[in-house]
Amino acid sequence: MKRVVILGATGSIGSQTLEVIQRFPDHFQVLGLVSGRRSPSQTAPYVIRADEAGAEARIEELVTHPDCDIVVTAIPGAQALRPTLAALRAKKIVALASKEVLVMAGELVMAEAQQRLRPIDSEHSAIWQCLWGESLESVSRLVLTASGGPFWARPEADLDAVSVAEALAHPRWSMGPKVTVDSATIMNKGLELIEAHHLFGVGLDRIDVVIHPQSVVHSLVEFVDGSVKAQLGHPDMRLPIAIALGYPERLPGVIPAAQAAEVGRLDFHPLDPDRFPAVGLARRAAEAGKGAPACLNAANEEAVAAFLRGELPFGRIIPAVAAALAAFPGTGPDLDAVLAADEWARDYFKAKSGKLPA
Ligand code: MG
Repeated sequence: MKRVVILGATGSIGSQTLEVIQRFPDHFQVLGLVSGRRSPSQTAPYVIRADEAGAEARIEELVTHPDCDIVVTAIPGAQALRPTLAALRAKKIVALASKEVLVMAGELVMAEAQQRLRPIDSEHSAIWQCLWGESLESVSRLVLTASGGPFWARPEADLDAVSVAEALAHPRWSMGPKVTVDSATIMNKGLELIEAHHLFGVGLDRIDVVIHPQSVVHSLVEFVDGSVKAQLGHPDMRLPIAIALGYPERLPGVIPAAQAAEVGRLDFHPLDPDRFPAVGLARRAAEAGKGAPACLNAANEEAVAAFLRGELPFGRIIPAVAAALAAFPGTGPDLDAVLAADEWARDYFKAKSGKLPA
């Protein structure tokens, strides 16, 4: 019996994690629930609202609690960083849905991880599964699949005229608004590239992105002998959640298996780097280091928030992130420096508020 703490209990990943736990009561038990502004509908021995007084210290106590076995990190954004590091230092297993943690502070987090970090992001879950039983030396390339979001298949669409509703209408996955917009700009794949680099220790130059509109192949791994492994499944986050919670056991009947004859065809296309420059921008930020990935992440959060408020056209989200990165002076590699880079990007956007090209 594993006792689970969920950070972000009322969000999309949090509620699907609760569903998985309820399906397998002999395997898992909820120890604690941490939520944002809404209180969770379910009870647990520990329930913490992130906006209550002293929440930060209580969350740290909970994720390092002797009864806690697994921490599911599913809080959007930078707040996930400290509790994730605390849980890993306390030798807990962390099932990670918040990719920002690795984008911002990949080196720091991986130094504490020691095989205890398990991905929930579907692409990384796919790569992880493809790597079971393999050695890193036999891997030549990782290939992340991207659905392309709602605009990839509409080359005629004027990206500056895209409405919030259009950007939130993802063709395959049902997710929160931030990641849905990231998926439409394809910055989600840029962040995932940095995430994969840290998680699997594969060089940035050996990670590629391919457009795969059906979202059935969740990612691929190429090996030195020319063999390629892929993981297939219906797009349903309950599967990567169950894999992260249950590893090394595969839990029965989590979702129906994707039937080849029903799937029919699988299409793959190269990513157009001119129309969707986000992946290239993320790659350069990761290569630059010195806080640049944390700056990229925070600048993107701010630009997406400005778009959702109607203050920035969709087509200006990535150029606004690029402008922030170009102005970023660089920081150091430790936690304070990473948080300073995050804050720098948020201040940069605050200073630009009202002056963004609406
Ligand atoms: Mg993903």
